[in-house]
Amino acid sequence: MAEIYIGTKFSSVQISKKNPEHLYLNKLKYWCAYFQNKNLAPPYPGGSSGNLSFKISEENDFIITASNTRLSDDMPENSFSKVTNCNINNFSLKFEGEKIPSSESLMHYAIYKARPNINAIFHGHSTEILENCNKFNIPETEKEEEYGTIQLINEVLKIINSQDFVIIKNHGFISLGKDMEEAGKNVIEILNKIEK
Ligand SMILES: [Zn+2]
Repeated sequence: MAEIYIGTKFSSVQISKKNPEHLYLNKLKYWCAYFQNKNLAPPYPGGSSGNLSFKISEENDFIITASNTRLSDDMPENSFSKVTNCNINNFSLKFEGEKIPSSESLMHYAIYKARPNINAIFHGHSTEILENCNKFNIPETEKEEEYGTIQLINEVLKIINSQDFVIIKNHGFISLGKDMEEAGKNVIEILNKIEK
């Protein structure tokens, strides 16, 4: 199962402390609450181990759950960060908001860059889904890698080209969609299959 969260591994510059505002933020909150209710982002002290984002520009800027943030039905405005100027080569990004964005922000960026038609990425952790990945032929990364690293991003990029739902080996799942509804629907479909 996923390791204990101990912080972000990228370097970051806070452009502004202003929390992001967006028409679709309520949709993101809806899916955060869904993840919480279905136990897809198990809690650790100070936060939840899952991160959800949606793309807001053709430059692959996005709004994502902040690090050290608990997913819930009633998330405060500082639960989200706007991420810009991602750079995979020097592992850095800039952000707007009170809190540093999710430790997996550069993975979200790398996927948006690789898949231009994808506008929403939901990443969660679920023993149930991991255990069922072979049964339902869900593609899985080949090698286990540490969260928040370039090695993990590269493993994900190897299998994400045509797949919208994949497993990160011994870690969690990623669901992609052209919008948040689609990314959410992919998760619901898997959960329904498991329940049957
Ligand atoms: Zn994770």
